Amino acid sequence: MPFFAPDFYFETYAGASVPFLKEQGIRALVLDIDNTLEPYENAEPSEGVRAWFAALAEAGISAAFVSNNDKQRVDTFNATLGLIAYSKAKKPFAKKVKSAMKEMGVTKESTLFMGDQIFTDVLAARLAGIRVALVPPIKDKTDALTRFKRWLERPIMKRFFRRNKK
Ligand SMILES: [Mg+2]
Repeated sequence: MPFFAPDFYFETYAGASVPFLKEQGIRALVLDIDNTLEPYENAEPSEGVRAWFAALAEAGISAAFVSNNDKQRVDTFNATLGLIAYSKAKKPFAKKVKSAMKEMGVTKESTLFMGDQIFTDVLAARLAGIRVALVPPIKDKTDALTRFKRWLERPIMKRFFRRNKK
């Protein structure tokens, strides 16, 4: 897989279902929060997100948050979930991704990262040496920097979809 391209692409986080993860031999997820699971303005996980985490836990699949957002955001979001969580992670640096994996006691081969940004999330996963699933941002920002990043991402995703077309 090319360096910046994800291994998997889902319309939403729910694409990483228990059957899919089991089939891929994945025993742990490292997760972005903002625009991957909920938009920025949702302080708490929705019922759907909580149900998804419950299904993961029941299947024995570990999960951890690695977010670039601040501690308050991450702690509030994680309050009802109680997962391993890292804030201010400075992705694309992979240090906190590796810390989360170490804390979960999982191997690279059995871990999947999921996030919404190529130059932050996909790159962090690549640098950590693990597989990565990309989702489109739930509610994308419209500022100039974000639009520029999306423009940079476009050819990468174009190639990804061309390659994955049956
Ligand atoms: Mg995000």
